[in-house]
Amino acid sequence: MASVEQQGAEAAAVAQGAVTAIPVVNPATGEVVATVPRAGADEVREIVERARRVQPGWEALGFQERGRILLRAQKWVIDQRERIIDAIVSETGKTYEDALAAEVAYAAHALGFWARSAPRYLADERVRSSSMLVKGRRLAVRWRPLGVVGVIGPWNYPLTNSFGDCIPALAAGNAVVLKPSEITPLTSLVMRECMEACGLPPDVFAVATGAADTGRAVVDEVDMVMFTGSTRTGRQVAIRAAERLIPCSLELGGKDPMIVLRDADLERAANVAVFYAMQNGGQTCIAVERVYVEAPVHDEFVAKVRDKVVALRQGPSGGPGTAEVGAVTFPPQLDVIERQVADAIAKGARVLVGGRRREGSGMFFEPTVIDDATQEMAVMTEETFGPTLPIMKVRDAEEAIRLANDSIYGLGGSVFTKDLARGEAIARRLRSGAVCVNDAAINYVALELPMGGAKQSGLGQRHGAGGIRKYCEPQTIVVSRGFPRRDMHMFPYTARGTKRVVAVLKLLYGRGRRR
Ligand code: NAD
Repeated sequence: MASVEQQGAEAAAVAQGAVTAIPVVNPATGEVVATVPRAGADEVREIVERARRVQPGWEALGFQERGRILLRAQKWVIDQRERIIDAIVSETGKTYEDALAAEVAYAAHALGFWARSAPRYLADERVRSSSMLVKGRRLAVRWRPLGVVGVIGPWNYPLTNSFGDCIPALAAGNAVVLKPSEITPLTSLVMRECMEACGLPPDVFAVATGAADTGRAVVDEVDMVMFTGSTRTGRQVAIRAAERLIPCSLELGGKDPMIVLRDADLERAANVAVFYAMQNGGQTCIAVERVYVEAPVHDEFVAKVRDKVVALRQGPSGGPGTAEVGAVTFPPQLDVIERQVADAIAKGARVLVGGRRREGSGMFFEPTVIDDATQEMAVMTEETFGPTLPIMKVRDAEEAIRLANDSIYGLGGSVFTKDLARGEAIARRLRSGAVCVNDAAINYVALELPMGGAKQSGLGQRHGAGGIRKYCEPQTIVVSRGFPRRDMHMFPYTARGTKRVVAVLKLLYGRGRRR
């Protein structure tokens, strides 16, 4: 069993490319649970070439046949849920329920959603034009799959944020090469088995395990990149994609604010704050990462939050119902959390609950509540990605809005008030991809809603029409039924013809009226 320091050193060696096979460690126990190969650039090129060869056949199958395979996979995910949960829990150290509710349930829903919605979102569009010049022609836009899509995923949701983004790409008719995080590759390998068992033609979906160098090789070969991970890496991916002139979609970091107004239902606000700060050990891009509470209700809100966090059980998953808060999955993350908490204390914050890494085996940081936080503290501005809930008292809603927007990130956010109209008005003033009133993060489960980041939280969206159209290129088709008798594009130019054009332009646009 590896110590926390050894696990940190191993993760660093993997990230730096110093090892050829990658050990997968259960962060809750320190045990090495598997070893996976590290795909080099040549191997990635071969995987992408094979995918490119089979993609036209997959596209030609059509929506119905592709959807049938995705629906078979949906059943497989439910039938094999315990196996999938085992894989997720063993490589992330998260709790059984976090794996079930936020990963298995998501994948099962998404497989059905995209199987049924792809034909609708990608149907040919008939277009009517206001231009006289195309009168009598049939105008259409069709969504053509891009070819081979590279999906690169993070470690916090090895099913939802890795395989999950492959589903719409496959439904659209692309082949997909998935590069999961080197910390959590096992779930993706289970899903490869799933797709094979459900009749997906060979090589249409491939998994290339490896670290940053494997990710770079994927970006170098594919026709489009769907990346989920840190803002720092996302920027590198975007630069390389720009050099290759291929599209990329980026789902990056966050620092989601929660605003609690004086008229809020405090019990509900405290429940949501604690759940979305601690669920998945706080390692969620749209976790509640900071709270601004109006002064008159600050003390009562903090007391409720403290009582709820004290009651949480933390530890390695022992199956259903055994713990609420799991491990810190990525070894260096423990240092980040510890540094931010120490910085907050040094700048005058009070730790009400937790505040330390747990002694003993496994990588755990105690569920932590921090009060008297201020915007000068790293815990209020940098992504923490841990089970921490920093709370700041504010004068009024205006101060809360200003501080909520004072961030390089803009992924999600939430506002708590009984005045729904005011809550929505405040939501519209937050520069975030999504804002919930009297809820947090719940937008993620409605796959019809676009989900993506403003500012440095990303480019593009997953979910909704845009979440599948991004895996396609629009192709415009114009069909002329025959040449009109007098075609305006015919040479030679004549003074008489030109005069007629000017007369038509005056008639159409020269009156300054709306047509
Ligand atoms: P990361 O950026 O370190 O790594 C993400 C993936 O990129 C890994 O698979 C990694 O191997 C690969 N990679 C690293 N360097 C690369 C390069 N130069 N080219 C191509 N691939 C490369 O992120 P992480 O630590 O795994 O994930 C945590 C981050 O992900 C957090 O910031 C979190 O907010 C973010 N995240 C965002 C969302 C979202 O939907 N916005 C969802 C989940 C996680």
